[in-house]
Amino acid sequence: MAEETLFSKIIRREIPADILYQDELVTAFRDISPQAPTHILVVPNILIPTVNDAVAGHEAALGRMITVAAKIAKQEGIAEDGYRLIMNCNQHGGQEVYHIHLHLVGGRRLGPMLA
Ligand code: 5GP
Repeated sequence: MAEETLFSKIIRREIPADILYQDELVTAFRDISPQAPTHILVVPNILIPTVNDAVAGHEAALGRMITVAAKIAKQEGIAEDGYRLIMNCNQHGGQEVYHIHLHLVGGRRLGPMLA
């Protein structure tokens, strides 16, 4: 059984976060350390530690993460100019929190993706 991260506490509203959206599958909230004018995290409500742990039973939540990101991008007014969706995996991918999350980043022209 994977260990919970602080994201589970945010989902259960046990610790504060600027939650923009929540349904039975996913939760979206503003990143505490934004890397761009808009930086939002969309997470599944159930704990999936990394993309490596994703299985067919997770597809509803994983798909919802993308449609919710698209909806929020429109709400934030960044859909037309564009934005980036990023999911980091493990150490080489730069993952710090082991509860998968989609970064929705935009509001400015972003630089090259790989660093
Ligand atoms: P990762 O590097 O795992 O892909 O991204 C983790 C993200 O979670 C980082 O962008 C970091 O700023 C964000 N983060 C870490 N702790 C918190 C927190 O307590 N609240 C919120 N809202 N974001 C957090």
